[in-house]
Amino acid sequence: MATRGGLHGHGRGAGGGAPAGRADRGSARRRPYRDRADGPDGPGAGGERGPARTGPRRRLGAHHRRPAGRQLRRRGDRLRDRDPRGDLARLLYEASLPGTEYLFDDTVTALEQDADGVTVTFERAAPRRFGMVVGADGPHSVVRALAFGPEREFVRPLGLYTAWFTATDDLDLDGWYMMHNAPPGLVASARPGRLPGEIKAGLSFRSAPLAHDRRDIAAQHELLARRFARVGWQAPRLLRAMRTAPDFFLDSMGQVRLDGWSRGRVALLGDAGYCATPLTGLGTSLALVGAYVLAGELATAGGDHRSALRRYDEVMRPYVGQAQQLPPGGAAGYAPSGRLGIRLRDLSMRRMTRWPMRNVLAAQFAKAGNIELPDYGRGSQLPGRLQEFGV
Ligand SMILES: Cc1cc2nc3c(=O)[nH]c(=O)nc-3n(C[C@H](O)[C@H](O)[C@H](O)COP(=O)(O)OP(=O)(O)OC[C@H]3O[C@@H](n4cnc5c(N)ncnc54)[C@H](O)[C@@H]3O)c2cc1C
Repeated sequence: MATRGGLHGHGRGAGGGAPAGRADRGSARRRPYRDRADGPDGPGAGGERGPARTGPRRRLGAHHRRPAGRQLRRRGDRLRDRDPRGDLARLLYEASLPGTEYLFDDTVTALEQDADGVTVTFERAAPRRFGMVVGADGPHSVVRALAFGPEREFVRPLGLYTAWFTATDDLDLDGWYMMHNAPPGLVASARPGRLPGEIKAGLSFRSAPLAHDRRDIAAQHELLARRFARVGWQAPRLLRAMRTAPDFFLDSMGQVRLDGWSRGRVALLGDAGYCATPLTGLGTSLALVGAYVLAGELATAGGDHRSALRRYDEVMRPYVGQAQQLPPGGAAGYAPSGRLGIRLRDLSMRRMTRWPMRNVLAAQFAKAGNIELPDYGRGSQLPGRLQEFGV
């Protein structure tokens, strides 16, 4: 049964979570993941710690500098030429360019820590030494695997797989996010893309962990074609579009849970440390707030990385905990197995803007702002202070 739910417009999570935007995921090519600041000279004036009166959006906004027009747009075009990604990724890339070195098409293969720093071995670049390493490399983090242990120890699968891709299609969405649920636990969805005639499509299915090769796209296409073979609605069109999509990816949904987000001088940030899954719609908020807190704590710790990382954990732990609580029903609520469950889901989608669903939805949206951010001082002063750690 297809549902024209209450989700109108862009930027919703797969489960209709909070309306925080997310960077579109691009191709499976590797992306830059490590920065080195050799930017503004000297430490800036110290900011005082203390509870902020404003929520994350305002506090983070205080550090957003308006791009310097032409110059940054030109740099942004370079990134777009290399590897097109979403607006948010481009915005962050552009804002971080001054004083940041990006290594494209490379990955870390080994990390060796001692009392003073971390020696990082890359697949292509020569080994380098850093004061700290921050793994912000997503739910399948290599940094986490190298410094903390294998993925299976930290990732809790939700029993749900989702494929996402961009398709050129004339599906008449009229600005709506449309979903079609079918037994057993299948969801086909389409929402408007950024360009006219473009849609963002999704194909989800419930399953115990599969031993699939994440690089074998052809095998993933076949897997989805089999699972959705008898699903009606627009599924056949989406399956056709999937085969030529430039940005197709399939992944399992799993929450990342760790008791501590650092080991010595290696820390984790965003999905690498506390992926909440798209079902919550809060992953981008967690990643951005986490980056703000980690940078702020390091910048104001006077070179003491241990206390900075302790504070990072203290400030983020309650925020992450509430964000990782899935919306009612979890994966089963998003992709019910049976017809009754699907009817109930459709009913709840139709009533999304009315009581009691409106309150449930509002509570989920509100979670993004459920943190009082410390004030670390002016954002422009932070990079200089981070130099103490070589980040
Ligand atoms: C389909 C979908 C819908 C979503 N919807 C929402 C939503 O509506 N709202 C919301 O808040 N969140 C949403 N999210 C979640 C959100 O996208 C993530 O939580 C967020 O992007 C996490 O940011 P991150 O920087 O930690 O990780 P990522 O955005 O995953 O970035 C990690 C980066 O590291 C790179 N990388 C990975 N491995 C390596 C390596 N070995 N070497 C070098 N680089 C590497 C990757 O290429 C990537 O660029 C959604 C996620 C998905 C998949």
